[in-house]
Parts: sequence; structure tokens; C-alpha cells
Amino acid sequence: GFVPLYQTWESFYSWYVYRRIQDCFCRPVSGVPGAKMVVIDRESNDHRWSFQYTGGHSTVLNFGSYNYLGFSQNSGPCAEEVEQTIKNYGVSVCGSRQELGYLDLHKQMDRLVADYLGVEDAYTVPMGFATNSMNIPSLVGKGCLILSDELNHASLILGCRLSGAKIKTFKHNCMKDLEKNLREAIVDKQPRTHRPWKKILIVVEGVYSMEGSIVKLPEVLRLKKKYKAYLYLDEAHSIGAIGPHGKGVVDYFGLNPRDVDIMMGTFTKSFGAVGGYIGGSQALVNHLRLYSHSAIYSSSMAPGVAQQIVSSMNIMLGRDGTREGEKRIQQLKWNTRYFRRRLQEMGFILYGNKDSPVVPLLMFMPSKIAKFSRESLNRGMGVVVVGFPATPMTKCRARFCLSASHTKEMLDEALQITSDIGDLLAIKYSKAEPPSY
Ligand code: PMP
Repeated sequence: GFVPLYQTWESFYSWYVYRRIQDCFCRPVSGVPGAKMVVIDRESNDHRWSFQYTGGHSTVLNFGSYNYLGFSQNSGPCAEEVEQTIKNYGVSVCGSRQELGYLDLHKQMDRLVADYLGVEDAYTVPMGFATNSMNIPSLVGKGCLILSDELNHASLILGCRLSGAKIKTFKHNCMKDLEKNLREAIVDKQPRTHRPWKKILIVVEGVYSMEGSIVKLPEVLRLKKKYKAYLYLDEAHSIGAIGPHGKGVVDYFGLNPRDVDIMMGTFTKSFGAVGGYIGGSQALVNHLRLYSHSAIYSSSMAPGVAQQIVSSMNIMLGRDGTREGEKRIQQLKWNTRYFRRRLQEMGFILYGNKDSPVVPLLMFMPSKIAKFSRESLNRGMGVVVVGFPATPMTKCRARFCLSASHTKEMLDEALQITSDIGDLLAIKYSKAEPPSY
């Protein structure tokens, strides 16, 4: 069989230490990932590094799934329309876009996504991860330079590497470092006979999924214009999650979406569906439809999924004739601010912007995350814990994802549970007494 090598601390940690704390990962769940969810009960056996399934299951408050607008709930008009679509279209299109796999429903969805974003056109891909990894190589290649935020998602990193362009990373959300890299790439380059790169592409995310930070978009746009670079913006965690109309970071800062060259995002988080999109100018989208691997060599999105996107986006745009969309985005904002403020008052250290529905709560020590996960499940709350290599070794954390579907009672219950665990694990750091010697 496969024998891993333990030559570095990193590989030793990933293999031995992670196996000991894997109780918090890959836990099977069942049913709809709504405001509550069902987890399959199991007991860990530390000595044999294995699990025993007890045959039972528990319903817990769900702070782990990305369900920002509450559309994963599987009820209401979306669910009815999806059900009808599956009856009419079946489950799969059995073909790629170019091979009779492009439905009238896909056409409707592409148009709707473009309208939602406020750009000329958009095209959709059945998987968010592939949207990044398969489209960046169609945009840049050898002789191009990519400037990538150091905390960008793995799908962006893979896309950048596959492109063959030169990649440089800049410090997370640090505009000084981004400008330094841009200057070095153009202005300071000798001899100054020509522009040294065919294209320069800046790659950033809207809301960072492990930090809860929001990209400094106005500044990035200023720099990209000043140095004549292109901007690729991944809105996986910001589309439908922030901004007064739920239209992401562009909406949040009140900017023009057409100033962003490549608008990317996923349907997996806010829209309760799956897949990704790229929006932008007609020329960009036409180019990708012809040249992207994800458009040519992969089957189109499943009809039921496309319908979920169409139905939920119509609600968000108010095209269902109600103010349901507006209510959802306002509820998410209220929930986010309330939950963050209460946790801070309790003495927890949080990362991220006050409007970010991704709420990382710092535990720092890797040894605490398994206990946090287990204790919260025992008390009726499911939450994701994150450690190395997804975070630096000493920045382990729990990550809460808020949803418009959480009621105030649910938030209060979760806050009480978190407070109790905080006392148990001594992680209310800002309330901690300084050590006396
Ligand atoms: N981009 C970012 C920033 C992400 O966080 C993720 C996944 N969480 C993806 C892309 C991939 O999206 P999907 O899960 O829809 O494949």
C-alpha cells in the first residue's frame, strides 16, 4: 500500500497528529443542511485511531454549512420549482455545452446571473472549484504575471499554477505589498524598453473563508487601473452574503461591477445549489465559452441545480413579486453583527470584518480543536474547526457560518453553548487574567 514519508515536521504533523484529532473531521451527516442538521453519532477510539458508529443520530444547530441566505432549506417555492424541473428535464443533461448539453434553462440562468451581477454576460460551470482551476489557464499563460493574495483558495492556486504564468504572492489584503509587486513588475524593471509582461492579473477573493476578512476592493481597483493590470475577483463567500442588495463586495463598497474584469463566484454557498460562474464583458465570456476546458470537456450543470439557482436568484432580485430577498439579506446582516458582538463581549478573539458572516473564533492551540468540536456536538451545535495546514500551526480556530435562517433563539442557544465551552477550554483570551510570576 501507500507508505507516507515522515521527513518533515509538517508531514509528521499531518499524519500522526491529525489522525489523533480526526474526530472533528469527515463526520457523516444526513438530511438537509439547514439551520439545523442531522449528524451520525460515532465514538472515537484514540488508541486504535478508529471510530465506532453507534447506530444513532442527533439533530444539532448548524453553524458549519455555507447557507448564508438560507436557500439550502429545501422548502418553499425553490423546492417546488426544482421538483417540477426534475420531472420535466430529468437529473442529468448527459452532454457538454457544445454537445447538445445546453438547455434553455441554462440560457435563462446565464442571463439571470449576468443581470444579478450587473455585467454584460456570464457563463456557468457545474463546479465552483473547477470554475477557478479550469478558467484561469484560459485567461493567462506563459509570459504573463499573476499577483495572488497569499491566502487565496486552493482552487485559485491550482488555476494559477496550471496556467504556466509566473506567480507572485502578496501579503494578505496588504495594498502596500501589492503595489510594491506591481512597481517591481513594471516600473523598476530594466531595461525599460517595453512592458515586460503580456498581462498582469491580480487574483483576490471577496470574503476570505478562513479569515472572514473583506478585500480592500476600492484600493485594489485603484492599483489595477494605475498599473494597467486585470482583476480576477472570487466572490464564493461574498456573493449573496454581503452588500445592501446581497450582490457581494462590489455592492458592499458601492462600486461599478464593470470595473472588475473577471467576476467569479459560486452557487454553493448563498444559493443553496452547486457550481460556479464567471461574469464580465461579452468578449471575455465569449472567449471562455470557446476556450475554457470546463465549457468544452465537462457536462453542463444538472437541470435541478440550474433551477435552484434561477429560483433563488429571482427571489433575491425581487422578481417573485415579494420582498423576501431583501428580508433575507437584512436578516443575515443582523445575525452576523449580533453574533459577532456577543462573542466579543464574552471575551473571545475573532477575526474578520463586522459584516462578514464567516466568523473565525481563535483557539490558537491545535490541542483544543478536537475538544471544542466534540463538546459542541454533545451540547447540540455543529461547527467546523480548522487547524494546520488550513491555518498556520498556532492559529487554530473554530469557524461559524451564519445564516439568514438562524432565528434569534438559535443564535442565543449557540452563544450559550460557545460560552460554556469557552470557559471549559479557557479560550476567552481577552478576559483572561495576565499570568502572575
Ligand atoms: N473559491 C473559494 C474562495 C472557495 O472558498 C471555494 C470553496 N469553499 C471555492 C472557490 C470552490 O467552490 P465549490 O465548493 O463550489 O467547488
